[in-house]
Amino acid sequence: MKNIAILCSGGDVSGMNPALKHFVEYSLKKGLQPYFIYDGYEGLIDNNITKAGYEDVAGIINRGGTKIGSARSKRFTLAQYRKIAKTNLDNLNIDMLIVLGGDGSFRGLDVFYKEHGIKFCGIPSTIDNDISGTTYCLGVDTALNIIKVSIDAIRDTAASFKRAFVIETMGRDCGYLALISSLTSGAELCLIPEIEYDLQSYEEEFKKQIKNGRRYFLAVVSEGIQQDSHDIADWFENKIGIESRVSILGHIQRGGNPTIYDRLMAYKFITHAINGLLNGTDESVVCYTKSGFELKSIDEVANVKHVLDKELLSYL
Ligand code: ADP
Repeated sequence: MKNIAILCSGGDVSGMNPALKHFVEYSLKKGLQPYFIYDGYEGLIDNNITKAGYEDVAGIINRGGTKIGSARSKRFTLAQYRKIAKTNLDNLNIDMLIVLGGDGSFRGLDVFYKEHGIKFCGIPSTIDNDISGTTYCLGVDTALNIIKVSIDAIRDTAASFKRAFVIETMGRDCGYLALISSLTSGAELCLIPEIEYDLQSYEEEFKKQIKNGRRYFLAVVSEGIQQDSHDIADWFENKIGIESRVSILGHIQRGGNPTIYDRLMAYKFITHAINGLLNGTDESVVCYTKSGFELKSIDEVANVKHVLDKELLSYL
């Protein structure tokens, strides 16, 4: 029986647990022995690795986060610790690894493969949706749905009190979450790092709208823009003349029970990852593209700067 292991690295996302469940079930179906590595590369170094069975993944499909923990690991960036990690895998006869993580985690895997030949397949998992080569990363749909519920709730109070709300979403340097949330929540203003903006250009129009009876504004801004969200709120107060509040959504965007879409994508990502490894692709990342799933090289994914889809940007 061949052995295969999985770990989660970097920021956790909702969808990791459904991926773990399918990983165990599909591995067993394919005649592989599945293993869990706890707490990312830290667990790999500390030999926190256990056999996984059906009982370990019972009742987790509806849970956010990850049952096996995730972590960042300074030690894994050092060759001496990667050597320990390799010894731990050798002792258990594991030579195939699936990693749920971001491009940083994949770069780490690439180094590990080149040094020690551990075959791997990466599954893009970040709510930021900022990984090159894939149009979708696990967890994004759940994050968008959490943001949707939050904005819908904020709208109720914004309208009641005649206020402008500046709602800040995550995404690091990528405006994807803010852009999609703005388009699907009918926000009046959307600011993202990819597009230069001039607040002054909105002043005349917004004031006119207030005169014509508008009671509230919703502005969705990405954490990656140059200005602080409170500066945008001040602009609403001082230039538009409407009371304002800031709502930084923060880590609630990373939690919550996985949506149907993320559960299904978790299922598909895992299936493609295991099939890829069994079919002899030793070093790849499963990407979802306009033409379906593809296994791409690490270079295409981790060493190319991510750019936001032009069509989406054109809607702004
Ligand atoms: P993400 O995967 O979400 O982009 P990070 O960039 O923090 O997250 O990377 C996660 C982990 O991957 C790091 O803590 C580190 O252990 C490992 N890693 C990243 N880059 C390298 C590298 N060049 N060499 C070895 N390990 C790396």
